[in-house]
Amino acid sequence: MRIHTNLDTDTADKVIHAAAEHARVTNPDTPTFPGSRSHAGAVTVNLSGSSARRARMGRAPYRAATWDEWGMFLAAIFDADPTARTSDYNSQKHFNWATGGRFDMRKFPVLTPQDTHRQHRFTFTGNAATNAYRLYTCETCSATLRRPNGNTPAERASNLANILGN
Ligand SMILES: [Zn+2]
Repeated sequence: MRIHTNLDTDTADKVIHAAAEHARVTNPDTPTFPGSRSHAGAVTVNLSGSSARRARMGRAPYRAATWDEWGMFLAAIFDADPTARTSDYNSQKHFNWATGGRFDMRKFPVLTPQDTHRQHRFTFTGNAATNAYRLYTCETCSATLRRPNGNTPAERASNLANILGN
């Protein structure tokens, strides 16, 4: 996963290792630091965790991290740099909103919530009253996922900006 960050390379490297420790996963590959057009830099990181699947679409010789493990990892990244961006999340604010605060380091400082499991089964639960976003809930635990509505990327981005108050 590529993470765009405003942390300098040395700090980002330390934060990545601390985040992996927080999520109880490992970095099987040395992180690389490609450039970024939107941030001071970027880092590409792979995680090995307790998923039943192999990482990198099955091509890696190690197990992938679960959604919850990635969530814990990203929570620690966003804690160090709230402006960080991934392909899924534009910022810490977006991450917390999209995941319903599930990975809040103050609420869940140790590991994942008790109801974590390897593979969530997210099903569509409904649209928000404003129709600005839709909600997905795991069939077997309390994990939730929010996604902005919209027919185009621009509409979705606009809805998201309104929701987050940007
Ligand atoms: Zn679940």
